[in-house]
Amino acid sequence: MRFASPCRSEGCAQWTGTACGIIQRVLDHIDRLPDPPRLAETLPPCTIRQRCRWFSDRGRPACVACDLVVTDQAAAGS
Ligand code: SF4
Repeated sequence: MRFASPCRSEGCAQWTGTACGIIQRVLDHIDRLPDPPRLAETLPPCTIRQRCRWFSDRGRPACVACDLVVTDQAAAGS
C-alpha cells in the first residue's frame, strides 16, 4: 500500500539521498517476475501524477508498479 501524501524526501527513511528507495525496490522486484507486467500505450488515469514522487523519479515505469499497489480512494470520496 502506498500513501499519496507529499514526499518528505530527507525526512523519510526510504529516501536514498536523490530519490525514493521504495519505487526502486518495487521496480527491481517486477524485473525479477517471470512474466512482468508491461506498460500500456496510454498511462492510466491518475489524480496525483503532477505531484507523484515515483513518477517524477522513474517516469512511466512507475505507473506499471503502481498498478500492483493497493489503492484505497475511499477517503478521497471516489
Ligand atoms: S506512479 Fe503513476 S499511476 Fe502511480 S501515483 Fe504516480 S503517476 Fe499515478
